Amino acid sequence: MPGLEKLLRGILRYHQGTKQEMVHQLNSFKANPKAVAMYFSCMDCRLQPSLITDTRPGDMFVVRNPGNLIPHARHCNLQESVTGEPAALELTCVKLEIRDVIVCGHSDCKAMEGLHNFKGQCSHDEGSPLGNWLKKYGGDSLEKFSQLTAENNYRGPLKFEGAAKKFDFEAFIDPQKKLSECDKLSQVNCLQQLTNISSYPFMKEKIIMNKVHLHAFWFDIHTGDVFMFSRPRKQFLEINEDTYDSLVSETQTASPA
Ligand SMILES: [Zn+2]
Repeated sequence: MPGLEKLLRGILRYHQGTKQEMVHQLNSFKANPKAVAMYFSCMDCRLQPSLITDTRPGDMFVVRNPGNLIPHARHCNLQESVTGEPAALELTCVKLEIRDVIVCGHSDCKAMEGLHNFKGQCSHDEGSPLGNWLKKYGGDSLEKFSQLTAENNYRGPLKFEGAAKKFDFEAFIDPQKKLSECDKLSQVNCLQQLTNISSYPFMKEKIIMNKVHLHAFWFDIHTGDVFMFSRPRKQFLEINEDTYDSLVSETQTASPA
């Protein structure tokens, strides 16, 4: 069992090393945890949210699934059972008043490859939970992606509708023409999730009142670069020393989607 052995050895090192410091840290904010974000991420094993954001236990709530999808409200009957994603939004943004929600996708995403296959009307095994998940909840992303055509030079702008008219935004996808089809779909998918999040009435209210802000991140697996969508610039920008100040000021002045 080489896989499990690797994990158990890791737990031994944790036990001998960082455990005490972490327990001390967790106990210090036991009564008053101050998480700063709700973070939706793809579940890809190469993508580690706490690593690329340099965050610690207690800093973020994280939900991970194939393709970092948040089902649109029209797919969820709120009177009955729903998926975990809107429940996570209610827990963090309503109950705990978290103000920043991030959706993070990435390059070379296997879930986006699966979703992209539906573009050619490829059928999938009807009994496939993954196929059903992608087709049902990723359909809007695929539809938006199909709006990248020769007429707009395959870069847009694509229009995304937010919680209210004034929060609508536009996006140019890969204006430098560096990305693969699937990576472009992955970026479109990230932005579509902002629309999906704002489709829930309890989120729409928070967004309109400027109590919650929505952000899209994108991680390049091969370069390690992290990007953030800029509403004023209408495209993803790498987060680095040159862009940091402007990206921060945008989040303080721009309205959320
Ligand atoms: Zn992925």
